[in-house]
Amino acid sequence: MIKPKGYILPTKCSHSNTVADISLQPVKSPWHHSERTSQDKWTPSKCTRMESCLESVIFAHQVHLLEHKLRSKEERILELETENAILHLRLADCLGKLRRDHAEEAEAEAQKRWQHQRVVQQSTQSALAKLLSEVQILKQDLREVFAVYVNFATELENQSRLLLEQVGQASFALQGHHGNDVHSLQAQMEALERSLQEEKERSRTERERRKILHNTLVELRGNIRVHCRVRPVLPFDDGQGSTLAIGPATTEEVVQAVNDDTVVVNCTRMGNPGLNKMFEFERVHGPEDSQDVVFEEVKPLLTSLLDGYNVCIMAYGQTGSGKTHTMIGSQAEDPSGPQGEARQGVIPKAATELFRLISEKPAESHTVEVSVVEVYNNEVLDLLAKDEDGVAMGAKRDVITTSTGTSEVPLLSYVLVRSSADVMQLISSVLRLRARCPTLVHRDSSRSHLIVTLTVSSKSPNALALARRLQNVKKDMQRKAQKEWWSPRCRRANPMARQSGDERSASSSSSPYHSPSHSPIHSSCPSPRASTAQAPFRTKLQLVDLAGSECVGMSGVTGAALWETSCINRSLSALSDVLGALAEQRPHVPYRNSKLTHLLQDAIGGDAKLLVMLCVSPTQRYMTESLQSLGFGTRARQVQKDTPRRKNIALKLK
Ligand code: ADP
Ligand code: MG
Repeated sequence: MIKPKGYILPTKCSHSNTVADISLQPVKSPWHHSERTSQDKWTPSKCTRMESCLESVIFAHQVHLLEHKLRSKEERILELETENAILHLRLADCLGKLRRDHAEEAEAEAQKRWQHQRVVQQSTQSALAKLLSEVQILKQDLREVFAVYVNFATELENQSRLLLEQVGQASFALQGHHGNDVHSLQAQMEALERSLQEEKERSRTERERRKILHNTLVELRGNIRVHCRVRPVLPFDDGQGSTLAIGPATTEEVVQAVNDDTVVVNCTRMGNPGLNKMFEFERVHGPEDSQDVVFEEVKPLLTSLLDGYNVCIMAYGQTGSGKTHTMIGSQAEDPSGPQGEARQGVIPKAATELFRLISEKPAESHTVEVSVVEVYNNEVLDLLAKDEDGVAMGAKRDVITTSTGTSEVPLLSYVLVRSSADVMQLISSVLRLRARCPTLVHRDSSRSHLIVTLTVSSKSPNALALARRLQNVKKDMQRKAQKEWWSPRCRRANPMARQSGDERSASSSSSPYHSPSHSPIHSSCPSPRASTAQAPFRTKLQLVDLAGSECVGMSGVTGAALWETSCINRSLSALSDVLGALAEQRPHVPYRNSKLTHLLQDAIGGDAKLLVMLCVSPTQRYMTESLQSLGFGTRARQVQKDTPRRKNIALKLK
């Protein structure tokens, strides 16, 4: 604390007061005191005065000390203040530095943040740019879609407007023509009829063309066509009931139709491990193929028949392989029902198809005659022959070779038929006569070859002759009118002439001369048909259900049946020999070695279209027979016959 100069502090010793309590009093100089003492004499009082002077000096000294102390304190204070100021300065400096550091740090941070922001901004900008370009593309697409939509809408609008206009016009026209609609309808009808007629004509021409193409195709496919049918496994295939040890009674399927034209026999069990034999034919039917499917492949030959070709369809195979099933069909409870129709074989179906084709040709006249022949124990039996009482008896006939080199059966019975029902009725009536014998393979085994022949006699109308005939009739009428004369002979003869055909159709005489194709029509008045038609031509459809080829051991037959089997086998091997001779084009073909080959000479070696239907059992048990049948079929395919010839050359030239 700074004290004003000339003041001192009160001492401690004088009073009990502290330094701080010392009151400031004016200090008197000792000289001033001594002056007074010189004037007074040294006395006790003077001594007291001396003490007090000393005290003053001490006091002064103390004051001096205190002042000194004060000064030093003041200096210290100054020092401290300086130090404080320096510290303040330093503090300020530090603070400044700190603030600068802070600022720098903040700046760096800001810089960093700015950098980061720039990066983010850049990436955002690029993404944005990308997005923008995409948006642009989308906008463009949208514009295009919109344009399409606008076009579509416009088009739709135009179309609907046009349509509406047309509807309006049509309804207007309809209203306008309402009065004349009958006339216009008539005109339209006439035009339609005309075009229908044209279409009919065109379709007829097309049918003709198709027929020619079809025949060419059939011919190109080869003369002897071989189809193969593998039947399903049947209950009797397991050999149950057999008393003979005739090989393994296994129902394992070894014969398989692998596709439409290939059949494979797995011969592994025959000591040839892993050996498969493959056979190819024109058509191969598997067990699943129905009678209808089988017939569909045969059907084209019937068109050929009416086109003037001889046709022969022959079922070949081992006993029980399905020949009779294929050719005639299996018995149904109701043969007329749909189920019965489905079970029908080639013969009834062919008869139906033949009459259907005939009905499509009303301009031409056709007559169909049936003959049924059985070759049994190398003898030809006429199954339609009847004794005097009219009972069917199966008369024995001969086979001859005519001067033209064709085979013929003199005295063979022909029956005129008018429908397929007639045919089937005839066949079922004669089938009772067919030789049958139960064998171990098949309890209803046919022991003969059955040949059903449908002979079609066709006459096409001749336009020139018809015109001439009409002129003659006209002249006759004029003459008759002038003379007013009527011939009773003619009057009688005409109905008779008509009747003769009917009688013939009803007859089933065994004489071949009752056949229309064999007997010339005699009448005193010329029949319009006879004089106006072209020369008739005859074509034959031979349908053959052969007896089964089989091993004697396998069939287990003895006695008379053994003789039958031997005859069957001999005739079948004769058939095979004939095919072999034809295939090798040998000069001599041994047709006459058997009645069967002699009878079928025209079909096998002539100009007929021949189809062999191989029937094969699928199981291991009959593998030897199946391989034999397939070998027979392969040989038959190798035969190069004469090209089939049409019987109606005139029709062909037209
Ligand atoms: P085949 O005349 O060759 O001796 P069948 O035609 O009499 O033999 O046939 C023997 C048995 O097998 C008959 O009962 C017949 O119904 C049956 N059968 C033959 N082939 C078939 C087939 N494809 N589908 C069904 N059954 C058949
Ligand atoms: Mg049979």
